[in-house]
Amino acid sequence: MDLKSLIRTIPDYPHEGILFRDITTLFANARGFRRAVDELVQPYAGQKIDAVAGIEARGFIMGGAVAHQLAVGFIPVRKKGKLPWETIGADYQLEYGTDRVEIHRDAVKPGERVLLVDDLIATGGTTLAGIKLLREAGAEVVGCSFVIDLPELGGAAKLAELGIPFHALMQFEGT
Ligand code: AMP
Repeated sequence: MDLKSLIRTIPDYPHEGILFRDITTLFANARGFRRAVDELVQPYAGQKIDAVAGIEARGFIMGGAVAHQLAVGFIPVRKKGKLPWETIGADYQLEYGTDRVEIHRDAVKPGERVLLVDDLIATGGTTLAGIKLLREAGAEVVGCSFVIDLPELGGAAKLAELGIPFHALMQFEGT
């Protein structure tokens, strides 16, 4: 099954010059969605994982499904101001603009082995902010998994520098 063909590309969204890789078309395809979840889970089947963290919002959809398959809990990494209790946060640079992600201060128990999931890695800013937060809370980030990698934007290379195992189901050239 060609998962890449299930991604819709929208030019100039949300800004001119951006090729937006729309994953909703993959989510809407029953076999495609299931296959994508299975492929993200596969490298971690049989490994000790304590929780999956997913980045708002598309990372909730993939990460929630991966957590269910691994039979572990789910940690939402949310955008600023959405979580109801005490939080820790990290600012990051997006491919377009800046933002802040937060987790609850007690979202992770010290030493927990956490797999971080998002739909797409571009510059890696969002992922690196998520890793920083999870580590600050005491987690060991044992891997980062994505449906899509945009290698030319350098995010995957930054994860390699940190020595964190990285998986992506497909790559797109360009930005
Ligand atoms: P980055 O922090 O640069 O790695 O950007 C990754 C985050 O921004 C992910 O949560 C993506 O959902 C979103 N994103 C960045 N670039 C794109 C793109 N070209 N198409 C779709 N989503 C993108």
